[in-house]
Amino acid sequence: MNPFPLILSAPSGGGKTTIARRLLERRSDVGYSISCTTRRARPGEVEGRDYFFLTPDEFRARRERQEFAECAEVHGNWYGTLRSEIARVLGQGKHVIMDIDVQGAAQLARAYPHAVLVFVLPPSADVLLERLRARKTEDRASLARRMMNALEELRHAEDYQYVVVNDELNAAVQRVSAVIDAETSRRERVHNLEEQVRSLTERLQREVDNHSPK
Ligand code: ADP
Ligand code: 5GP
Repeated sequence: MNPFPLILSAPSGGGKTTIARRLLERRSDVGYSISCTTRRARPGEVEGRDYFFLTPDEFRARRERQEFAECAEVHGNWYGTLRSEIARVLGQGKHVIMDIDVQGAAQLARAYPHAVLVFVLPPSADVLLERLRARKTEDRASLARRMMNALEELRHAEDYQYVVVNDELNAAVQRVSAVIDAETSRRERVHNLEEQVRSLTERLQREVDNHSPK
């Protein structure tokens, strides 16, 4: 198998984190790239599992050392994907799921042309707002900023190869999982295709030759 990066983007509250977690539970052939961020940890978030939480100075230093495959300022904080995280997961032979914003996705798609880009859409604006409020992770200012950014992020849905509507969670996870399966079978990714076809052809040709009238 040729593992590839799978980029999930969505407006805040769209469900990309939840879908990524479910995929990790369901599939042993995917791993998660843990991002760095300068935002504070939310209650329940764990350092090194959800994010590597850095100070702005630490983030800047790592950026200057070119440790990030991409990074961007999102909702007033910095976020970045470590090259070492991508290499770690791909090195395990697993597809690497990345939950990143639209700016980061564009940078990564340039750096990793074989990456697969999936945009997660909420079923409606009302549902998005309801889920974001119910998550209770943002104060009023942060919520307002995330909604404003959602308008910009939605404009980028058309840059993605796949769009998955996150209506019923299991169904949405299943659809992203189907994308992974389909992409695994993409001709360009099939390992040793030429050799496989040559070996089949040679064997069949011998059979044809044996059966042809002398
Ligand atoms: P994002 O990572 O895109 O900001 P989250 O994954 O945190 O979004 O989802 C936002 C909230 O909506 C979370 O509280 C999550 O549990 C909930 N949620 C996500 N998907 C669904 C769904 N299909 N049905 C109901 N609730 C959902
Ligand atoms: P949150 O603060 O809700 O965890 O994430 C806010 C936004 O930052 C989301 O759109 C999320 O996808 C994005 N994000 C998380 N990690 C990264 C990253 O490594 N790089 C970029 N560019 N965006 C990220």
